[in-house]
Amino acid sequence: MNLVLLGPPGSGKGTQGALLTQRTGWLRISTGDLLREAVKQGTELGRRAQGFMDRGELVPDEVILGLLEEVLSRPEAQRGVVMDGFPRTVAQAEKVDQVLAARGQRVDRVLFFEVPEAELLRRVLGRSQAENRSDDTPEAFRRRLAVYREQTAPLVDYYRKRGVLAEIDGTGTVEQILQRIERQLNL
Ligand code: AMP
Repeated sequence: MNLVLLGPPGSGKGTQGALLTQRTGWLRISTGDLLREAVKQGTELGRRAQGFMDRGELVPDEVILGLLEEVLSRPEAQRGVVMDGFPRTVAQAEKVDQVLAARGQRVDRVLFFEVPEAELLRRVLGRSQAENRSDDTPEAFRRRLAVYREQTAPLVDYYRKRGVLAEIDGTGTVEQILQRIERQLNL
C-alpha cells in the first residue's frame, strides 16, 4: 500500500500518520521530519533547507527530488509507505510516480484532510509552545498556508482525476478522525 497524506499545515497529517503506522505497521516517511533532523545534524541538506523552512516556504524541488528518490528506494520502503508531507508540488508527485512505477507500484490512495482555516490557525498556534517548531509563528504559518494553496493544493485535482482521492473530514477528536480513515481504507 502506497498512501499519501495530503492537506494544509495543521490538518492532522502527522498525528494521524503516526497512529496509522502504529496500527498497521506500515512505514511512514515524513520529509518534514527528515529535513528537521538534517538541520539539527548540520548536514549539507540541512544547511540548504533551513532558511526556506524558517520562512515557511517550500524547500526547492531541486533539493527535494533527490531526497524522495533516495528514501523511496530504501529496502524498507519497498513494501509500501505512508507519505506524510510529500509530495508537495506537481514535480514531486511526478517523481513519486516515476520511482514507484519503476518497481511496478503506484500511489494507491490519497487521504485529503479537510479542516476550516480558523481551526488550522488555532491548532498550529497551540502547537508552537508544545513542540517548539521555529516555523509555527503566526507569520510563518500564514506563509505556509499561502504556499500550500499555491503549490500543493493543485495535487487535489491531480489525484482526484486518477480516482485515488478520498476526502477525510479532519475536524473532531483524534480518535474520530482515525475511525474515518480506517473506514475509508477498510481497515
Ligand atoms: P512539515 O513538517 O511537513 O510541515 O514540513 C515543514 C517544512 O519543511 C515545510 O514548511 C517546508 O519548508 C519543508 N518541507 C517538508 N517537506 C517538504 C517537501 N516535500 N517539499 C518541500 N519542502 C518541504
